[in-house]
Amino acid sequence: VIEIRNLHKAYGALEVLKGVSMVAPKGHVISLIGSSGSGKSTLLRCCNLLEDSQQGDLIFNGEPVTWKGDDHNRRPADPKQVLRIRTNLSMVFQQFNLWAHMTILQNVMEAPLTVLRRDRAEVEKSARAYLDKVGIGDKCDVYPAQLSGGQQQRAAIARALCMEPEALLFDEPTSALDPELEQEVIKVIKDLATEGRTMLIVTHDMKLAADVSDHVVFLHQGLIEEQGAPDQLFGAPKSERLRGFLSAGH
Ligand code: ATP
Ligand code: MG
Repeated sequence: VIEIRNLHKAYGALEVLKGVSMVAPKGHVISLIGSSGSGKSTLLRCCNLLEDSQQGDLIFNGEPVTWKGDDHNRRPADPKQVLRIRTNLSMVFQQFNLWAHMTILQNVMEAPLTVLRRDRAEVEKSARAYLDKVGIGDKCDVYPAQLSGGQQQRAAIARALCMEPEALLFDEPTSALDPELEQEVIKVIKDLATEGRTMLIVTHDMKLAADVSDHVVFLHQGLIEEQGAPDQLFGAPKSERLRGFLSAGH
């Protein structure tokens, strides 16, 4: 679904991604791991065009993103393409990012109604079904502040699913949660992996990465230092840096 070729991204003089290439094939779960500041969130945000990049290709279902401007100042050329990609790669954030003034049901229905302009009755039906699926079907009419962190994150996952995206992008979905609430969210993510959803997950949780991933990518200072199947990456890491990272208690 997502293919990244030689992607470069800098914030001013700070080079954050220095030529990253990777593929997230349909139905696969890819985990992105690496130290703080290695560029994981930036890579995820570049994927769904929340961030611009300076060089390299992003290919979505075989369709390369078209750019205008030069390498020093390029932007996506086609707003319709940006919308298509963004609505098909739904993002789940560390801090949930639910709208505080809307009920849980309204939160889940909002984007399908306003962005995709889908039929209200249909959207409501699927929103309720997704809230059931993540185990908070009884929380439709309450506001986010009335939920635990784990429930809020599950609502955020239902909201992402209700867009019927081709892939889900998670940025540290469990790191704002207490350990016992973390498990509720991990269970939902595992269920989605079993269903064959395409997912790109940035996580500091090596157990989660080992359990759900088809492929793990270790990022170090804006470059892929090592990538491979979880058994190989965690069981027999080749790179010194990855060994150091894993033994540092991640
Ligand atoms: P963490 O594990 O702490 O979330 P990360 O791997 O997700 O780290 P990024 O958030 O991608 O790292 O950041 C990579 C680098 O880019 C860091 O040095 C960070 O300070 C810098 N950076 C991120 N966002 C911006 C921004 N909007 N403006 C300037 N620099 C930024
Ligand atoms: Mg990050």
